[in-house]
Amino acid sequence: MPVLEQIAVEIAAAPGRGTPADYIPALATTDPRQFGMAVAELDGTVYGVGDWETPFSAQSITKVFTLALCLSMEGEGLWEHVGREPSGNPFNSLVQLEYENGIPRNPFINAGALVVTDRLHSLTGDASGTLRDFLRVESGNPDLDFDEQVWASETANGDRNAALAHFMASYHNIANPVPVLLDEYFHQCAIEASCADLARAAGFLARHGIGAEGDILLTRSQAKQINAVMLTCGTYDAAGDFAYRVGLPGKSGVGGGIIAVVPGHCTLCVWGPGLDERGNSVSGVAALDRFTTLTGLSVF
Ligand code: GLU
Repeated sequence: MPVLEQIAVEIAAAPGRGTPADYIPALATTDPRQFGMAVAELDGTVYGVGDWETPFSAQSITKVFTLALCLSMEGEGLWEHVGREPSGNPFNSLVQLEYENGIPRNPFINAGALVVTDRLHSLTGDASGTLRDFLRVESGNPDLDFDEQVWASETANGDRNAALAHFMASYHNIANPVPVLLDEYFHQCAIEASCADLARAAGFLARHGIGAEGDILLTRSQAKQINAVMLTCGTYDAAGDFAYRVGLPGKSGVGGGIIAVVPGHCTLCVWGPGLDERGNSVSGVAALDRFTTLTGLSVF
């Protein structure tokens, strides 16, 4: 795809790459000069450029997939436990939770993702295993797995997430014991996957809920709902700027990856480990901005 080659050349020449996340020590040493980008068509055909086949830490990108699993199993009842409004606060903030009685603003901030993982664990008995198996099928990569080093690093530095979980448990919005939930959540965050894997795995969001094997994972309406929450809440407290620049539903993670969806057309995943001050990949946002500008593909 010539447009991907052009973007890679522009990204290589751009000054400033941001800084890898260092609050999870295992991520801090990732080389910020790496860059990959993949586009998956609706039939799963993938095109890529740069480090598009290099596995990286998916982190919060996985929140999209646990939300999809939970919504497909639980339906609308999920929204009694987590909202769907942008938070305007950092992803790991405790502030809003107290005056909103332990109901997180949305499923893509850490508090909201903890609620979703807790519910998925109650529904399946194995939230992280269910997620991994789902991603293996949807990506077509049977080797996709957790990075145990990242899991251990998060576990050793998990006080903030533990505080969020305990706080919500005090409002009875967490059903499982907090240590069990945290272990599931840290495994979820430690999924390792490439741009090719994640672009393919997100394909059901472009296919209006249809999975890689033709099965109905979500109703058309649920796929629309997840895309909408990605657009409004998917890129931390910079979702407005991301929508302005990129014009697509997207979800970022502190590993430097971002997935984006062009409904009815294709899915994308970009990866550049250097983050801006809000936690989004500098080269990733720039690459998606250029992609929608050069191709005219956006939801607007
Ligand atoms: N594992 C990270 C955390 O819970 C995920 C954050 C992110 O990627 O936004 O802090």
